[in-house]
Amino acid sequence: EGFESKYKFYDKRVPIADDNPAVHFDETKCKNCTLCRRACETTQTVLDYYSLERTGDVPVCVHCGQCANACPFGAMMEVDDTNLVKAAIADPDKVVVFQTAPAVRVAIAEEFGAEAGTFAQGKMISALRALGGDYVFDTNFGADMTIMEETSELVRRITTGNFAMPQFTSCCPAWVEFAETFYAEYIPHLSSAKSPILMQNTTEKIWFAEKAGIDPKKMVTVCVTPCTAKKAEIKRKELNAAAEYWHIDGLKDSDICITTRELARWLKAENIDFNTLDDGIFDSHLGEASGGGIIFGSTGGVMESALRSAYYFYTGKPMPAEYIPYEPVRGLDGVKEATIDFSGISLHVAVVSGLGNARRFLDKIMADGTFKDYTFIEFMACQGGCINGGGQPKVKMPLVQ
Ligand code: SF4
Repeated sequence: EGFESKYKFYDKRVPIADDNPAVHFDETKCKNCTLCRRACETTQTVLDYYSLERTGDVPVCVHCGQCANACPFGAMMEVDDTNLVKAAIADPDKVVVFQTAPAVRVAIAEEFGAEAGTFAQGKMISALRALGGDYVFDTNFGADMTIMEETSELVRRITTGNFAMPQFTSCCPAWVEFAETFYAEYIPHLSSAKSPILMQNTTEKIWFAEKAGIDPKKMVTVCVTPCTAKKAEIKRKELNAAAEYWHIDGLKDSDICITTRELARWLKAENIDFNTLDDGIFDSHLGEASGGGIIFGSTGGVMESALRSAYYFYTGKPMPAEYIPYEPVRGLDGVKEATIDFSGISLHVAVVSGLGNARRFLDKIMADGTFKDYTFIEFMACQGGCINGGGQPKVKMPLVQ
């Protein structure tokens, strides 16, 4: 009651609030095709699954951006935060520190005519420098930190038996919001590790600021991601480690998040010819990363990285070569499962991408009593993982139901 009058396009589009940090709606461009609504309701199972009594008539959005990705008319769009970055670059007092998530470098070139999947890391780095970035770091360094934290926690859960099992991944902010909204009783199963971007931003604002002699109040951290949910994640009030460390009220770990699509539009507006740029290299302090970091961009990547590290932590030996790449958790299926022998104990793991798949999978394993048989479950909100994030170029892959 009250819902349809307040959100008059309820039958046609996703009812998002005006202050949504990730996506916004331009009514004048809407052709009522309902693709955004179907992405939210059917593919992601968010719309129609929440109770208005519980939310006080406020639409629930987990900020995955799949509505914006589905909209062919530019009516449902990511919130454009490039003006904030431009203002920071134009301010001579500010030091702008970019970091780039793994899935951006294999998608940005598509916006400039290249085939999907073209690896353009070097040109992406040069583009960010051409736009005025002072430093460009690789989020893969943050992904390595996430894996060290998440894996240590997993081994602790396995060996002590004192914590909730199975452990769920926590690096996808839309999945975390989905779990908090619909499966709050399972919050103890979420890993306590922050996402790679947040770990890296904190490292930049604390360790790098100190090492490079940069006043943290003057540093502006900008993440370039495939993900609209990161725009909401960086606003979470508990993510303020730098403020605590430096004793500066209001200092944020992460200042701005822009998506692959925003970066491409900005480059085009500046007439920067992406295809003729030289190949740049990341700044060195936080630029080196393992191969485990880069596979975070695809579904199963977090799981594979975690299993490699967990095997080493648990057995004291590197994972046997025949397990790498760990094929059972690769590929684009919505749900993948595997059992791996950890020197005498069996770990049963699952990899789930797409929130609709997550809901069906969780409901199933709770109903059939197999929930307790799992050791570790990776959940990513977007089908196929971050490569199909809400801020990526709008080239459709088949939806997995
Ligand atoms: Fe963002 Fe990746 Fe999660 Fe999609 S799967 S919401 S792109 S972190």
